[in-house]
Amino acid sequence: MPTPNKPASVEVKYAPAATATPFLTITMPPIIEPSESTDILSPTPSPSPSPSSTPTPSPTPTERPESVVSINLLGEPVMEIKRCSEWIDPGFVAQDSIDGNLAASTTISSDLDVNEVGCYTVTYTARNVVGDTAEVSRTVYVRYNKEDYEAFEAKGKVVYLTFDDGPSENTEKLLGILDKYNVKVTFFVKNSDQLDLVKKEAANGHTVAIHTYTHSYSKVYRSEEAYYDDLYKMREAVYEKIGLRSNLIRFPGGSSNTVSRSYNSGIMTRLAKSVQEKGFCYFDWNVSTTDGNASTRTSDVVRDHAIAGMKSKNIAVVLMHDTHSHTVNAVEEIINFGLENGYTFLPLSEYSFQPHHGISN
Ligand SMILES: [Zn+2]
Repeated sequence: MPTPNKPASVEVKYAPAATATPFLTITMPPIIEPSESTDILSPTPSPSPSPSSTPTPSPTPTERPESVVSINLLGEPVMEIKRCSEWIDPGFVAQDSIDGNLAASTTISSDLDVNEVGCYTVTYTARNVVGDTAEVSRTVYVRYNKEDYEAFEAKGKVVYLTFDDGPSENTEKLLGILDKYNVKVTFFVKNSDQLDLVKKEAANGHTVAIHTYTHSYSKVYRSEEAYYDDLYKMREAVYEKIGLRSNLIRFPGGSSNTVSRSYNSGIMTRLAKSVQEKGFCYFDWNVSTTDGNASTRTSDVVRDHAIAGMKSKNIAVVLMHDTHSHTVNAVEEIINFGLENGYTFLPLSEYSFQPHHGISN
């Protein structure tokens, strides 16, 4: 059983423990031949040119011919794999104007450990005969696998803290608290001035899931087409920031909302079915902290509702909003209660329990 809430200071080691199975497996990328021979002056376009590719400044022409080293990744620059699975490197194209194909003299370095969940960097460094280099990196997230989630949930006392409607000016503070305890959560995000914060949410190991772009009931529930336009717009906005497209969603107001009735009769019934047919997992909640209600906007109320819900559910999916400072201010006490009483905090995944409300429209 992996340990999700171990102290953040524990170093993730590259080499797997002797008892860990299966062993770390990294498949070397295929060697890609450049399209021309050794006198190429401009690099071959790549399917995924990387902004971090940094050709070294060339020497003066009197010393030797101009040399331009380039390296570009094939495949996605950000990838996700499940724990204990094999990572297959999609490869790269490396070349320069002197040596042509630099694949053989490109080194790949990484601390990737497929047995440990985490965020890893794989760095590719191309070098030509005169020592000029270019470097590019790929991010690989290792996530818990299906068996991990089954084992956690079978044991019970699992808590999925979920934060909707951000990122906001309160999110940075929340991320600091979560990091202090190495607790991973889920953010159902919408468009925001602070959208850059999804990068930090993802890099810190949290699940970044999709709420909608506008979160406007009158827009998203006008029609199914309007809903999907808004959902995909947000999914792409997040992809532009973090390089990943999430299949995890939460409906504004939850699937049980009745406000959608004013805009389109029966739309929640149809959407709940069609999102799953399209491969999305939708999450309602089974614990509400009531943090959005005008009459209960205090940290004490949020904390008490969260803890009461955790006690009453084997698997608690807790609704909160990182748009409220009183919510963020309750989180440390919720985490302390959980860690002191044997609860396991996890980020949602497609393998997690999916609470679904009764649909009323
Ligand atoms: Zn919301």
